[in-house]
Order: sequence, then structure tokens, then C-alpha cells
Amino acid sequence: MAEKVRIQDDLYRFVNGEWIDKAVIPDDKPSVGGFVDLDQDVEKLLMSDFDAFREGKKTTDIEEFKEAIKLYNKIVDVKRRNEEGIKPTLPILERIKSIKTVDDLNKNLLFFVLNGIPLPFECGVTEDMADATKHAFVMLGPSIILPDTTYYKDNNPQGQALLGMYADMVKKLLAYTPLNESEQAKVVEDMLKFDSLVAQEVKSQVEWADYTNNHNPMNIDEVSSYLNPIDIKAVLSDVYQDKAPNTIVVYDPKAIKNFNHYFNEDNLEMYVNWAYAKALVNNSSQLSEEIAFLGGTYRRALMGLQTDPVVEKQAYRMVSSVFSEPIGVYYGRTYFGEEAKKDVVNMVHKIIETYKVRVRNNKFLQEKTKDKAILKLSTIEVKMGYPDFIHDYYKNYKVNDEDSYFESLCKIRNEMIKHSMEELNKPVDRTEWAMPGHMVNAAYNPSANDITFPAAILQKPFYSINQSASQNLGGIGAVIGHEISHAFDNNGAKFDENGNLNNWWTDSDFAEFKKLTQAMIEQFDGIEIYGGKVNGELVVSENIADNGGVAVTLEIMKNLEGANYQEYFMNWARVWCRKAREQYAQLLLARDVHSPAELRANIQPRNFKEWYEAFDVKETDQMFIPENKRIIIW
Ligand SMILES: [Zn+2]
Repeated sequence: MAEKVRIQDDLYRFVNGEWIDKAVIPDDKPSVGGFVDLDQDVEKLLMSDFDAFREGKKTTDIEEFKEAIKLYNKIVDVKRRNEEGIKPTLPILERIKSIKTVDDLNKNLLFFVLNGIPLPFECGVTEDMADATKHAFVMLGPSIILPDTTYYKDNNPQGQALLGMYADMVKKLLAYTPLNESEQAKVVEDMLKFDSLVAQEVKSQVEWADYTNNHNPMNIDEVSSYLNPIDIKAVLSDVYQDKAPNTIVVYDPKAIKNFNHYFNEDNLEMYVNWAYAKALVNNSSQLSEEIAFLGGTYRRALMGLQTDPVVEKQAYRMVSSVFSEPIGVYYGRTYFGEEAKKDVVNMVHKIIETYKVRVRNNKFLQEKTKDKAILKLSTIEVKMGYPDFIHDYYKNYKVNDEDSYFESLCKIRNEMIKHSMEELNKPVDRTEWAMPGHMVNAAYNPSANDITFPAAILQKPFYSINQSASQNLGGIGAVIGHEISHAFDNNGAKFDENGNLNNWWTDSDFAEFKKLTQAMIEQFDGIEIYGGKVNGELVVSENIADNGGVAVTLEIMKNLEGANYQEYFMNWARVWCRKAREQYAQLLLARDVHSPAELRANIQPRNFKEWYEAFDVKETDQMFIPENKRIIIW
């Protein structure tokens, strides 16, 4: 056991060290602690309710639960799944293999879109960043096998090893298909070639993190010319008839403009084999136990897992993602107290009001910009707990008795994609929640200017009626402040109070703001951890949000009777408590827009004088930085 550290040197370790040393990560989990443990508690609770529903010991008036239970039963029916083996997915695989010409592909495009079969592009319908009342049809390049394009660069040894593992897994899966040996070998070879071509054109995770750059409206004629010989106009008119969109929002312009670098008539077969392999891997989890386990090899390796969760857990997770809103509403109605809701809603309003005061007293903004920021704060909508009702489209998610697990899921996915496509010409539904009630998380949606706090996050250590006000401020308070701050992070700041991309800043104010965001990039950039380095640019928006969350809650502490700064900072560190597998930590380092948990706990406090006062932190302590290095943005 490590010697007890001093809090002035390592807040995170001081608070969580003893727990971390003792904690054991279960074989089927990439990490434990904090959010993950709360998630597990919710999962246990809901899984036992699921059992009670299946056995008829409990009932609910939420109709959608009947279908959810039916799907659950299909998943845990391993006898049937094992008997059927690869069979349920063969029609899809054969359909992919039947593509011999680009014309064949054009005739199948809609079928591929509706069935989630990998195409040489991805598309969908989402809120229009320029006009939040409307939807946009968006297009981007295909997703690649490796976690990020950087894994393909400079013969990255980790990337090479992962590709080798993926290829090996696909080889083994292909042995279950009707393809002969030489056909199987060709599939693997083409899959790797096609993926490496795609990787040269699609965005990296750092580029994706700057998500306002996704808004590139292009005329359909221009997009169509890039995609030629793919007949994208034909698909759009199949779906929308005379209401087909004239404008496509291209998320990844380089991938679309260079489409012919990876897809053209000459390499059609290469694409077909890539799609065949990817579909096989994607669908494997819904087939026999043997195939499902095999198809999870790569995913487990990425996270350092020894094994998969038991089938009941897999079933619960699948069902709770498909029927997320009904299950979240059930969770909220059953387990969420009105007292807690009232208390936290009050806290949110107090934080918003305090935020306004901070903006008004802000030193780097002119009054004009402050007015706009305060207007944006005044119009934030708060979604607390769980939605009032379940959207009607869940009624279309039906499970037939005779269908296999795979077929059932295909039909539901078909309905989901159809529903999403049909939204295009309808106004945006503001009653949709970003997260279901049973999720341990919180969110800000820049296009809606709303914040969502699912019922499940309102638990200890984030929040408890029995915790001190200082502890709650360091927990859920800082999370609330974090979500509000997303309205003013490097991306969110570009949206106005109505959720539209619209510049409300004066040029000189935005230049000042940019200087501060650059300083935040540098504060984290290059920190060595888990054998890698933090990419400051990838994580900047979340760090700005953390910084704002701490700033606004410390402001409230100033006027709090009996404010205890030690409790505040210690609970701030407690919520980030986590123990993760090395592989998983490295994966997050490469992909996640959040900084590693221990850095979130340890870096932000140093920016605030309250930290130094609370624990008498001196220049000789590890968690000291000089005043001219301290950053407070909001
Ligand atoms: Zn965030």
C-alpha cells in the first residue's frame, strides 16, 4: 500500500487512494468507482425489477415494458440462439455479397441504410445547427475499425497490433459463413485495404471534438457529384419524394469531397468485402453464444476485459438502450423523490442566477456581450429527473414471437431509423430528452439551450439530502455548473439563446475568450499519464466546463452559512474516484473529450484561491501553481 499522501500534494489520491488500492475491477468491467458504481447500482435495481416482471410478481402500467420483456426473453434464450448459430444473419450477409455492380449497390442503398449495413458513407437526420427549430440531413464518411485515425499514422505499433487482432477475429468469424477459404482470405485482405483508404480521409477525434465545424451546408448537386457513382439523389427521393432536401449538411467535408479516393467502380469488391466483415462483427453479439463471444474479442481487448458480462446483464443493457425512455420513466416514477427534485431544481436556479452575477462582474467582456450571455442564461431550459410522458414512436417497437433475437432487433432498428428519417421535414420536438431517467450522467444541448439531469445522478456522492450543502455544491452543484458552462465553452459559445449557430460576440471579446481557451488547452496539454499524453485540444471544452462549474459553485459558497471549503473540495475529488484498466484508460486518452478523472479532480482546484486557503497550500506543495498561471474563464 502506498504511503498516505498529503492533500496539498494530491487531492485525488488523498481522498480516494485507500479505496483505489483495495478496489478490484471485475473481469467484465473496464473500470470501477464513481459514476460506474452508481450505474451498477441502478442496473442491479432495474434488473431485479425485470425479473419480477418476467415472473409476474410485479406489474406496471407502462405498456412498452411488455415488448421490452419480450426482447429480453429473446436475448436470454441462449438455447435457441445456439441452435440457430449464424443462420439469422445470413440473409443480410448474402445481400451484401450479391452486390456485383455499382448499380446493384444503388438499388440496395435504402435497404442498407434502414438495416444499418455499413455503406461507404454515413447519413442521418439531426437538429440543424443553424436553425434549431428545424432538422437537417447530414452526411459523413464511414467509421473506421481503429479507435482513431491517429492509430493509422506512422506505423503506430498499437494500431498495427489492434488491426492484427481485428483481422484474426474476422478470420475466425468468417469460418461460420458459407464462404470458401480463398473467399474468406479475400474478405480480410480487402477489409484492411478499404479501411486504411478511408482512414486517410475521415476526421480524427480531435477534429470531431470541434463540433461546430460539422456545420457545412452543401447543395445536393454538389454532394451528389462527389458521391458519383453512388446515386444519393435517388435514395433521397425514395424516402422523401418531392420533399427531398436541397441542402445536405456535410459533417466531414474532406471525406465527402475525396469520396472517390476510397470508393469508385474499380474497388467496389473491396468495399463489399469490408461491409461484409463489418456487418458480421456488428451482428455477432445477437447470434449464438460462441459467435457472440468471438465477435467481442476486439472490443474486449480495447477495454482490457477478460470476459463479457453474463447474458442477463447483456439483455438488460440492450433492452435499456432500445427502450430507454420507457425504462427511464419507470425508474423515475418508481424511485425518484419529489423532495430531492424540488431541492435540486432550486439549486439549479440559484446557480444560474449566480452565473449571471459572475458574467456581470466579468473583467474581459464588454457590456454588449455580457447582455447576450445573460440573455442566454435566462433562457436555459431545465430538464430534471425524467420526462412526463413516453413518445408514441416507442409503440412501433414490436417483438414477434416467432422471430429470432437478431430479427427482432433488425425490425426495431428499422423502425428507429425510419422514425429518425421521417423527422427531417418536421419541426424539432423540444420534449425529447437528451438522456433517459435511469442514466447516471448529465448533459447540455447547445441546439436546445437546455440542460438535462436524469433522476439517477441525484445520488451520493453527487447529491444527498443528508450531505452538507458544501458537499452537495462540490458534487452535483459543480456538475450543474459544468453543464451550464457548456453554453459558454469553445463550441457552445458559438450558439445563441435559441440554440442557433449565431455569433453574438464582439470581435475583441471573442479574441479575449480565445486566449483563455488556449491557456486552458496548455494547462492540460502534454500531461503524461497511462503511458500516453493528454491532448489539450481534445479535452478543452470539458475542461472549460469544469472550470466554470467550480467557479460558480465557489461563488455560492461565499454566501453560504457554515460554508466548509474542505468538504467542498474533498467531495469534488470524491465524485471523480475511479480505477480503470490500463487499456481502457489509454483508449479514453485517445478518444474521450473528458480529461482522465484524476486530472479533473486535481487540476481545476489549483486555479482558485479558495483551494489555497482551504488547505494552506504553499509554493512547495505539488498542487500549487503561481497566480499568473491560474485560469478562471467564467
Ligand atoms: Zn461536459
